[in-house]
Amino acid sequence: MTARHDVVVVGGGNAAISLAARLRRLGARDVCVIAPDQDHLYRPLLNFVAGGQARFDRLTKPMRSVVPAGCTWVPGLAVDVDTDARVVTVDTGERVEYVDVVLATGLEPDLAATPGLAEAIDLGWSRTAYLRDTVESTWDAIRETDHGRVVFNVPPEPAPAGGTALKPLFLACDYWRSRGTLDRVDVHLVTPYGSVLDLPFVDRHLEPQLERFGVTVHHGATVAALDPHVGSVTLTTDDGPRVLDDVAWASVVPRYRAPDWVTGFAGPDTGGLVDVDPETLAHRTVPRLWSLGDVAAVRTRPSGGALRRQVEILAENIRRSRTRRPLRRYDGYTVIPITVDRKRLLLAEFDRDGTPEPSIRRVDLTVPRRALWFFDRYVEPVVYFRALLKGRV
Ligand SMILES: Cc1cc2nc3c(=O)[nH]c(=O)nc-3n(C[C@H](O)[C@H](O)[C@H](O)COP(=O)(O)OP(=O)(O)OC[C@H]3O[C@@H](n4cnc5c(N)ncnc54)[C@H](O)[C@@H]3O)c2cc1C
Repeated sequence: MTARHDVVVVGGGNAAISLAARLRRLGARDVCVIAPDQDHLYRPLLNFVAGGQARFDRLTKPMRSVVPAGCTWVPGLAVDVDTDARVVTVDTGERVEYVDVVLATGLEPDLAATPGLAEAIDLGWSRTAYLRDTVESTWDAIRETDHGRVVFNVPPEPAPAGGTALKPLFLACDYWRSRGTLDRVDVHLVTPYGSVLDLPFVDRHLEPQLERFGVTVHHGATVAALDPHVGSVTLTTDDGPRVLDDVAWASVVPRYRAPDWVTGFAGPDTGGLVDVDPETLAHRTVPRLWSLGDVAAVRTRPSGGALRRQVEILAENIRRSRTRRPLRRYDGYTVIPITVDRKRLLLAEFDRDGTPEPSIRRVDLTVPRRALWFFDRYVEPVVYFRALLKGRV
């Protein structure tokens, strides 16, 4: 069966739903969303679940309740886009013709890229907020730990808001501090960057917090392999391999990659991500194909916060392209919220070059604040479901 729609958005996450809603607000009459999921997940709270500050059942809403009114939802996985015929094929066999198509599939965890990780997860030895099945058990592990070596990592790019992987680490350390066990827990952080996040304007606030909790930081390092049977984590570092032994458990965020079929739209240097002009979000070579969110090569660190700008610009650009008006440009704005303990959080807001781009000027949001923790934990989820997913922001 072949259906026909004006704008077809592939994906059911933050990017796809917010964009579909925004397009509707701008007057698009015929928007179709292709998404397999029966529920929609608010991912930023996952780190709070892993850190024992939120419940998983508060993170999801049925997909049918978030697909914007007036949009058609085709349940299923897109498996191919024929850009000559302008048709998306869904795994159900359905075919959907489009005038404009937007790829918003997000990234997939690539467990096989880290030998031993899949087994470590199966054995409950590695747990992370980034994998749905281990979010809640991450908090169990934190709660049950009162001594031993624990390893956390910041994943290399591309990854969904990789810097927020620091949240469970800080929440755990502060929990162990409050229980009086922190001096018996040997916490290690593995980061691919030369400093904590390679963002000097926030690293200067993060470093004292890591010191305060006695965290050993491995800079310029990535997790290369895990062996849950002997309790070791092998790192690749700028100085060669390094093995951390006697590890009680690890919280390893996997590597990420674009879905296989999407790599057909990648460019020579986009690492498998969709080859868009990072400013206009239009594909560099394929007409009427656009992309945004984690799967788009926008040359900035992916985040939900980055989507606020991307959604607004892309919705406008689809409209402008039809009347051949100049397209709007995205400067790569992104944001990483990081809890530094169980009651304070800081915001790293920056552009494509890593230059700070604060959303407000009067208060320095890179300084850890209680109000920011409250906002991120309690206000953002409400803003997300009531405004962002409805195309209002
Ligand atoms: C643990 C964690 C914590 C985070 N914390 C924060 C934070 O504090 N602040 C922040 O700003 N950001 C945060 N993020 C990042 C943020 O959630 C992502 O940047 C954002 O969700 C990206 O949206 P997306 O729609 O591009 O991708 P996703 O949210 O991954 O959604 C992709 C969607 O596409 C669907 N899909 C995949 N393949 C297909 C296909 N073939 N056909 C149809 N549909 C398909 C998927 O099922 C999914 O519904 C966090 C992410 C994680 C994982």
